[in-house]
Amino acid sequence: MRIDQAEGDEYPLYEGGAYRGSYEYGGKIRATNIVNPDILGKYENVMGAVKGSNILHETLESFIGAVLFPGSPAAITESDKNKGYYEAHDLAKYIDPRYKDSDGFSLIQSSSRTFIDKNNVTLTDEFSLRNKKTGVVTSIGSYSGTYKNLKKKQ
Ligand SMILES: [Zn+2]
Repeated sequence: MRIDQAEGDEYPLYEGGAYRGSYEYGGKIRATNIVNPDILGKYENVMGAVKGSNILHETLESFIGAVLFPGSPAAITESDKNKGYYEAHDLAKYIDPRYKDSDGFSLIQSSSRTFIDKNNVTLTDEFSLRNKKTGVVTSIGSYSGTYKNLKKKQ
């Protein structure tokens, strides 16, 4: 499974889970989150976490964020992360301690872009996790897709 994102994002083809905050619509609070079950499953394998614990974590995190911090922004900048994300993340970890953070690993990314023509570009990102203690590097896959070659807005 692949999550399509706009050209210009730093990680165009890759997300394990990304807290996107919440917003009010029609009198209700709606939480959003980007998840890639394929990537989350590979993280679980590398880290020895319980299968399914990462997707549950992302779900709990979004729910907690929407209930306790309605309208909190996406976890992109440090300032935004302090408006609900960190609390929601920590509470989700407390509720389900089977979830494992990736703190003990470094993400290695290798990106390439191939321009098909002036309007289309194929982006390929290859990812590996390096265990900081053992130094063991495990590939978690190569992801690619073709996108419109949109210019970044100034
Ligand atoms: Zn989290």
